[in-house]
Amino acid sequence: MRILIVEDESHLAETLGQILREQHYQTDIVNDGADGLDYALSGQYDLVLLDVMLPKLDGFEVARRLRAAHISTPVLMLTARDETGDKITGLDCGADDYMTKPFDSGELLARVRALTRRQGEVLAQSLTISDLSLNLSTRCLSCAGKSVRLGFKEFDVLRLLMAAPKAVIPKEDIIAKVWGIDSDAEDNNVEVYISFLRKKLHFLGSRVSIGTVRKVGYHLEYPLS
Ligand code: CA
Repeated sequence: MRILIVEDESHLAETLGQILREQHYQTDIVNDGADGLDYALSGQYDLVLLDVMLPKLDGFEVARRLRAAHISTPVLMLTARDETGDKITGLDCGADDYMTKPFDSGELLARVRALTRRQGEVLAQSLTISDLSLNLSTRCLSCAGKSVRLGFKEFDVLRLLMAAPKAVIPKEDIIAKVWGIDSDAEDNNVEVYISFLRKKLHFLGSRVSIGTVRKVGYHLEYPLS
């Protein structure tokens, strides 16, 4: 799960990053609205934490332009001011929720969890494809009574594949979502984790396997009945 933090107060940005990373969210931090918009327009984030008072472009404008570009990533606005007018403006600009600084980390995490729940995950604690089931809270992958616990990166990669089981997921999307847009991760990082996952699928004896589409990416293969 990747979160973009757009906050010009570097101390606060670091604190937010730390709170989220402790919960195993991946984070990218940018310090002005123009960079925030650029990064968020990639569509590679599960959530954007967006300060209102920002250099170059304010948070309202960032949210407005994101929505105008049909990017539907949830946006949680952060501001030092707690005026009702700001909350309304923020929500009108397309923000999904609003928090007033200072806030406590428990409340922040609760809102982050609420906003990052995707359709289908609200009720489901797991993703299931054919005989394979991935528990989203324990990271346990199970099949016919056997189970293994996945590492964080393995989990992130397989979750992407299982969330869109009919799609071919491009390698660059996997890198952006699992390692981050600015990361130095390369295709062979993805290949390494795909090979770990293939070994685990083989160990479980699952009918699901990971297929390669050359020069494009990966997809799940499984019998339809
Ligand atoms: Ca600010």
